[in-house]
Amino acid sequence: MRREGTNPDDVQPEDVLCDFCHQAAWAEDVPCVEGHHGSIICGECLQAAWVAHDRAEKAEDSRQCTMCLEQRDDAIWSGSASDACICGRCIRQAAGALHKSKDWSWTKPDG
Ligand SMILES: [Zn+2]
Ligand SMILES: [Zn+2]
Repeated sequence: MRREGTNPDDVQPEDVLCDFCHQAAWAEDVPCVEGHHGSIICGECLQAAWVAHDRAEKAEDSRQCTMCLEQRDDAIWSGSASDACICGRCIRQAAGALHKSKDWSWTKPDG
């Protein structure tokens, strides 16, 4: 997500916030993965989501995934700082992308 008041023509690294914990992931040099409409999940949230989502209850109502903007009824994880949520498919895709990236040392947590 973008910090409120961000100039869309002049986006600074500190304007780019993780949708799930609201930290300035880019400015802090935290690995992160972009979704649709400027949505971002940082590696720290992704790690928490990865660990938790296997055990997550299926959503009672289908919720819109912040990352892919689809209504998903598979296991959904949401961050503590916001009502953003990410579906299991996006968690796997984002984890795969970060895992493969040579720029980052993030690896999938065991389990
Ligand atoms: Zn985060
Ligand atoms: Zn999704």
